Amino acid sequence: MRARWSLLVVPFLLAAVPGRPAEPPTARPLLVTVDDLPIAGGHRDPEERQRITDGLLGHLKRHGIEAVGLVTWRNVRDARDRALLERWLAEGHELGNHSYSHPSYSATPFEAYRADTERARVELEALLAPHGRRLRFFRFPFLREGDTGEKVAAMRSYLEESGQQNLPVTLDNQDWSFDRPWSEAHEAGDEARAAAVAEDYHAALRISIRHHERRGDQLLGKTTPQILLLHANAIGAAEWGRLFEWLEETGHRFARADEVMGEPLLAHSPAVVSPRGYGTWDRLWQEQGAEQAREGATAVLTTQAAAWNAGDLEAFCAVYADDASYVSATGITRGREAIRQRYRERYPDRAAMGTLSFEVVEARPAAGVEVTLLGDAAPSRVHGVSVVARWRLDYSDREPASGLTLVVLRRRGDGWEMVQDASL
Ligand SMILES: [Zn+2]
Repeated sequence: MRARWSLLVVPFLLAAVPGRPAEPPTARPLLVTVDDLPIAGGHRDPEERQRITDGLLGHLKRHGIEAVGLVTWRNVRDARDRALLERWLAEGHELGNHSYSHPSYSATPFEAYRADTERARVELEALLAPHGRRLRFFRFPFLREGDTGEKVAAMRSYLEESGQQNLPVTLDNQDWSFDRPWSEAHEAGDEARAAAVAEDYHAALRISIRHHERRGDQLLGKTTPQILLLHANAIGAAEWGRLFEWLEETGHRFARADEVMGEPLLAHSPAVVSPRGYGTWDRLWQEQGAEQAREGATAVLTTQAAAWNAGDLEAFCAVYADDASYVSATGITRGREAIRQRYRERYPDRAAMGTLSFEVVEARPAAGVEVTLLGDAAPSRVHGVSVVARWRLDYSDREPASGLTLVVLRRRGDGWEMVQDASL
């Protein structure tokens, strides 16, 4: 008992650096990232831009946070804005590339998107070089990484060639959407309304953070490191202190980019093709769902072949939905009963049935997008999968027969049922 106690106590003692509170050894590493530097949204008055920057940097400093700020170069309007970026560097934060004009990759061809990214990269490298700093990170505006496989691959190659790493987000949220209502209330002198907006800002952030952390932990089976997305705006300058306190109270430990990006799934975030932008855990969840759908479809065909080869047409047809359609060159057969009858007539005995095998040629999971109550885009559950497979019947007394089939499966309980089957 004493030995176990000392094992528990030692990490606490090691963590007790003077001037900083001891962290519990299980605290969750969290990287703070700030998008659309130097200032997001309106806020065109240079003095206000200065005040917002003072507020943001002050909160980061008080909580010992080393953030990564992502610069949207179009927002850098003059020498004063450059000076704001230099203050981020002077206070120990890192700057990354967030494009020149903040385009949506889903609405922009690769070449134009690359040119926009490259224009900002060159400007930012020139700002960093005199400070002995190098550009490492790029963040996709709207977290949209490509709506076709070719576009996803093209940007990944470009980023690698140009020495930029995709800095993903795990804690996606809508913090930016509270800035305008808060600022309008504040400017109108309506502090009660501004306070009410701030309450919603914190509530929305807390729900998003809890949701994404739970999903990450479930997927990886551990306390996952997180990357929080915030924006450089006025509500942040007023409210980050309370947000950071809540994060500290709820078991988070502010971590540097190198530590958090040490998680392989963040360093190489899954390539999910979608017109919408998601956090990493949602991408991973969708990728796993798609993989499970492909495996489930293969299992259905394997089970069917085994039933066929056991001469059990009853079991062979059990995978069809009640209202399944069977399509052949001669027409459509509707309903499981009618499909079973068709097979009985064509394959009256074991000799006629031969030995069936399937080879899956292609499987395409079907999933869409949900917009959550908080306005986040999130991938939906995989609800169906279509499969192209080659079937083959071997006989002991004649040449084998072979052809292609296209089957559509949807979820039934924990498994899958076949709703359409077009065999050629
Ligand atoms: Zn942005």
